Amino acid sequence: MRINELYPWQSDDYTYLLQLRGRMPQAILLQGAKGIGVDSLALNWIISVLCPNSATANTYCGKCNSCLLFADDSHPDFYLLTAVADEKTISVSAVRAVIDFLALSTHISDYKVVLIKDTNLLSLSSANALLKILEEPPSYAIFVLLTDNLQQLLPTIVSRCHKYRLSVPNVEMAQHYLNDKQIEHGQFWLKFYDYSPLFETPIDNQHLQQFIDVLATPNVEKIYELTVEFDGKTIPYNFILEFIGKWLSDIVSYKLTNELIYFTDYISSIEALREKLNLDKAFFLQDKLNFLMQWVNHPLNYKLQIENLLFNYQQIFVK
Ligand SMILES: [Zn+2]
Repeated sequence: MRINELYPWQSDDYTYLLQLRGRMPQAILLQGAKGIGVDSLALNWIISVLCPNSATANTYCGKCNSCLLFADDSHPDFYLLTAVADEKTISVSAVRAVIDFLALSTHISDYKVVLIKDTNLLSLSSANALLKILEEPPSYAIFVLLTDNLQQLLPTIVSRCHKYRLSVPNVEMAQHYLNDKQIEHGQFWLKFYDYSPLFETPIDNQHLQQFIDVLATPNVEKIYELTVEFDGKTIPYNFILEFIGKWLSDIVSYKLTNELIYFTDYISSIEALREKLNLDKAFFLQDKLNFLMQWVNHPLNYKLQIENLLFNYQQIFVK
C-alpha cells in the first residue's frame, strides 16, 4: 500500500492518534471532507500501530518486517474492507470475510487492523453484519472507519466508535499546497471545493467554459449542445448537481447580501443574472437540487435529467 507523507495540516491529528497508544479504541471513526487526505493520515497511523518500533520512534520506522510487509501490500495483520470492483456497496459476504481474518490471533504485530475506507458504501444488511463484529471484537482487533458524511451511517455503528474529526487546511496552507501543483484554474477549484486542496475535478477546461456559458446565458440551443457533449461516465451526475447548486447559491447570495463564495471570477455574469432573478423560483430550484442530491446513485436518464434541470434553471430568470 502506497504511503504518502503527511500533509502539513495533519501533524496535530497524527500526534493525537499516536497518543491513543495505551488506550487504543477498538473502533475509530475518522471524519473528514474529500480532498484533505483522510486516507493518507489513516494509513500513516495504521502502519505506526503495526510497527513494533513506533513506541520509541514516535512514528513507524519504515525498516522493520512489519513496515516492509505493509508497503508491499502483504501485511498479514492488515485487512482492507472495500466494495468489490463494479459494485456500489460493500456486500455482506465481504463483511463476513473479516470474521475469518480476525479468527486467528495476530501474526507479527500487537494488533490486527481492519480499514473501511468507504464506510458510506455499507448497505443496511452489511452494516448490521459489521455491527455484530463491533459488539464483541477480539481484544487485538482495531477497526478504522473513514467517512465524509456521518449522516449516511447507521447510528448504532457510529455509537460503537471513537469519533475524531480531522483538521482542514486553512486558506494559506491550501493555497501554498496548490501553488506547487500549478493546476489550471486552481484558484477557482480551490474555492469550489471549500479549500480541500487534494480535489480531483472531473471536468476539463473546455467543458468548464461551456458549462459556465450555459449558466451565464441559458438558452434552449446551448442546453441541448451541452448535454450532447456531457457523458455520465466522465462527468458524474452528482458533480453537475453540485456545480449548478453552488452557482445558484452564489446568484442568490449576491442578490441578498452582495457577496459571492465560489464564482468570484465570474462576477459580471452573476451581476447580470441577479437583476433578472426571481427569488421564489430560485428557492424552489434549490429545494429540488437538494432533493435530487439524495438520489444521485439512481439517475434515471443522465441527459434527460440534466436538460430538465437546465430548463428549470432557465425559467428562474425573468425575460
Ligand atoms: Zn517498522
